[in-house]
Amino acid sequence: MIYNVLQFLENSARSFPDKTALADEGQSMTYGEYLDTAKRIGSAIIKKLSGRRNSPVVVLIDRNIKSICTFMGVVFSGNFYVPVDPSMPEERKNRMFSTLEPALVIDARDREGGREGALLFEELKDTEPDSGVLLHVRRQAVDTDPLYAIFTSGSTGIPKGVLISHRSVIDMTGAFEEAFHFSETSVFGNQAPFDFDVSVKDIYNAMKAGATVEVLRPKLFRMPGLLVNHLRERKINTLIWAVSALRIVSDFKTFDGVDLPQLSYVMFSGEVMPVKALNYWMAHIPEATYVNLYGPTEITCNCSYYVIQKSFEPGDILPVGRPFVNSRIFLRDERGQKINRTGQVGEICISGSCLALGYWNDRERTDEVFLEDPDLPAYPCRFYASGDMGYYDDNHDLVFTSRIDDQIKHMGHRIELGEVEAALNSISFLTVSCCVYDHKKEKIVCFYQAEEECRRKIVMELSRKIPKYMWPNKYVFLETMPLNRNGKIDRASLKKDLQEGKI
Ligand code: AMP
Repeated sequence: MIYNVLQFLENSARSFPDKTALADEGQSMTYGEYLDTAKRIGSAIIKKLSGRRNSPVVVLIDRNIKSICTFMGVVFSGNFYVPVDPSMPEERKNRMFSTLEPALVIDARDREGGREGALLFEELKDTEPDSGVLLHVRRQAVDTDPLYAIFTSGSTGIPKGVLISHRSVIDMTGAFEEAFHFSETSVFGNQAPFDFDVSVKDIYNAMKAGATVEVLRPKLFRMPGLLVNHLRERKINTLIWAVSALRIVSDFKTFDGVDLPQLSYVMFSGEVMPVKALNYWMAHIPEATYVNLYGPTEITCNCSYYVIQKSFEPGDILPVGRPFVNSRIFLRDERGQKINRTGQVGEICISGSCLALGYWNDRERTDEVFLEDPDLPAYPCRFYASGDMGYYDDNHDLVFTSRIDDQIKHMGHRIELGEVEAALNSISFLTVSCCVYDHKKEKIVCFYQAEEECRRKIVMELSRKIPKYMWPNKYVFLETMPLNRNGKIDRASLKKDLQEGKI
């Protein structure tokens, strides 16, 4: 019985000990080496933590295979890993760390930056594996134990750590296997950073199938010509990428004059895929199967999928399709009643083993969105209220329409405008400020009132508080902020002015 993701690694190491499991630009590792290194790291952590289990271990990540190997080391120790991008502003990292209270911090960067107290991958991997203690830890494990936490933007200004169990990832890989039949011949081109849950699909689907993960450096996405060569040279045949990454390729017209016949799967998720970009891909690589994947981090990657089998015209909306096996999706109206009618829009709600355990150390925010199904009152049956709106079309496919709240997807990143506003509100020289998203121009617009125009000073302050992708793209200085009849910022009028091109 599979109850721990490490069984995938152990099975693949048994079946394919000498096959390349992980590779990045400069290094590679066979399944045998992957397992051995992870066991060494796990044994070292158990010693350091005197056997403490189910505690958060932060991994300072890089775009390298050492990061993945460190994750598995943490799992061998009976703890859960939390990938953190070290380039994040110190203030935001500190907010994450104070939520987490990590038991340990491990630096997996190729060139470590020396965070105080962080242990180095290089030191840990030289520890002798201790099969006795590893077995002892495994004997106590159950599939509801946490496997990882990934931080996502929080509307109050405090990022939320979405906590995912072994069971949820085992469930996700089972559902993907049933739908897409990955095998040991699959070569995943990992685009997504490890602190995004899109990367979870590469790591675990590959590990289960005995396939290879090729970690792609961000540099390749700045020079798409090199990217194409790399995909060809490394024989990458499976892409599970963010929509924003696929768009880079189509915006640069990267495939003109080249072909990549080995590509068999092109899957995308994270936001609405523009049909124009999809059609560019399909025209240049017609042999591949294209799949629209949908779901928030809180339900372990994806709960529905739509295989593109017909042509779409620009302006058409791609459905997000049908639920994966063992995921249940329903829509509810504003009164919480389930919707069964085709075409009626409601909030997308999900239940099943895919559900996160909750937000780490944050019962209040967990209880706001992980709810109990009122139609099943005899026992606690949880569902996740996603805040996404959608409807079922005439073919019974789910279609995503919009968000209930101020969460946006901007350059591939999930952002709560509330987090940007919380950072702005902490700037002493601003009298009042707010943010609005211009969906047409794909820009975060900041409206602010201050004694004088001070865009540069705001950017300086924000650079210490939130990552660059959250910085507003446009700043509008107002002598007085418009207020509505309740005395609140009149966002509706600001949005209207933006839409009408007055700003
Ligand atoms: P994340 O947790 O970063 O994966 O972001 C999840 C959110 O991205 C969802 O709640 C949706 O709002 C959006 N999203 C994910 N996949 C899709 C998709 N295929 N089409 C449209 N929006 C999507």
